[in-house]
Amino acid sequence: MRSVEEALAAILDAARLTEAETLPLERCFGRVPAAFFLTAAVDVPPFDNSSMDGYALRAADSPGRLRVAGEVAAGAGTLPEVIPGTAARIMTGAPLPPGADAVAPIEVVQESESEVEVPATDPGAYVRRAGHDTRAGESVVLPEEPLTAATIGLLASLGFGELAVRRRPRVAILSTGDELQPPGAPLAAGQIHDANGVALAAAITEAGGEPVPLERTPDDPALIEDQVGRGASNADLLVASGGVSVGRHDHVRDVIERLGTLDFWRIRVQPGKPLAFGAVQGVPVLGLPGNPVSALVTFELFARPLIRGMLGLPGSGRLMLPVMAAERIGKDEDRRAYLRVRVTREADGLAARPAGGQQSSQIRPLANANALLIVPEGEPAAEAGRTYDALLLGAIA
Ligand code: AMP
Ligand code: MG
Repeated sequence: MRSVEEALAAILDAARLTEAETLPLERCFGRVPAAFFLTAAVDVPPFDNSSMDGYALRAADSPGRLRVAGEVAAGAGTLPEVIPGTAARIMTGAPLPPGADAVAPIEVVQESESEVEVPATDPGAYVRRAGHDTRAGESVVLPEEPLTAATIGLLASLGFGELAVRRRPRVAILSTGDELQPPGAPLAAGQIHDANGVALAAAITEAGGEPVPLERTPDDPALIEDQVGRGASNADLLVASGGVSVGRHDHVRDVIERLGTLDFWRIRVQPGKPLAFGAVQGVPVLGLPGNPVSALVTFELFARPLIRGMLGLPGSGRLMLPVMAAERIGKDEDRRAYLRVRVTREADGLAARPAGGQQSSQIRPLANANALLIVPEGEPAAEAGRTYDALLLGAIA
């Protein structure tokens, strides 16, 4: 059985970068730059300008009473010259007119008809110099994460109208199981709703991938084979759920082996021990366990970093924090556990309590969890009062 690290290393080995495509900035939110090093096309700001509404003047003329020689609004192309003894009314972001070397804010001056009384003003006061933030030709390093509102704003300021981003990896989703019915459908005896298909589609989108749903199949090797073949010829990654364990109706591993190669199929992780990894037609295939919590937690641990790897992103993109267990939570001693917990802020720091039962079929506790508390192999429980790493899935209230 593989450790989490061994399994993850093998899985990340299969990450091939998707190609770049160029998109207008309006469509770049959440996308991943194809290159994190860029060169600024223009000075930011592009010209000397005022950071306040006020009067542009010659510092040497201050303090004193100056004649108002004109007005400069933001965007002005032609500028009045500020000769000795004069000042020009100026707005925030307007170009500093020739002759002026400082700005006196409106709040500190006395205005009259055609004159203004200004206090002592230092050269350069309230002037934002051209290239003060970034010089044209300077290299700018973007964070290795999907583009945020701030990064997109930065790109526009730097002179970009479009950007080369990685194509979102196409991730085929296959739900297998005789008992599965579509969400919302009436259930006959023995049937359940397919929770994994839609949940995995959401997780794929969140990770930066594009979900490609395949046709849900019963536990029928021929039908599973059809869908796995279809997925492999039409996606960058295939994620199946169910039918991967040792039951008589578990066929996913056999299908992977028949159509391609099976690398391993067991990991020392709780939840999620039976997790198959292989490749079909060069496309990596992850066979996740059917229990919804196992499926989503193993997706989080293995599929999410793989999708990010295809986008050129490192790690999980999640925050990891030390958190104290507020009560004992039992686990399987042989495996590393990812316990579903709620982390809260308390007087003495962050504390974790179970978000509900810890069985892998119980999806409500996962939905209510804001973190997975990581308890190492070789330990029978998270012990009250001890501190563990917590992988944050949501906000801490
Ligand atoms: P399996 O991995 O096929 O042995 O399934 C383990 C458990 O997960 C069984 O109780 C299945 O009914 C359940 N299960 C399998 N696939 C899904 C699915 N897509 N949605 C919800 N539960 C599932
Ligand atoms: Mg099954």
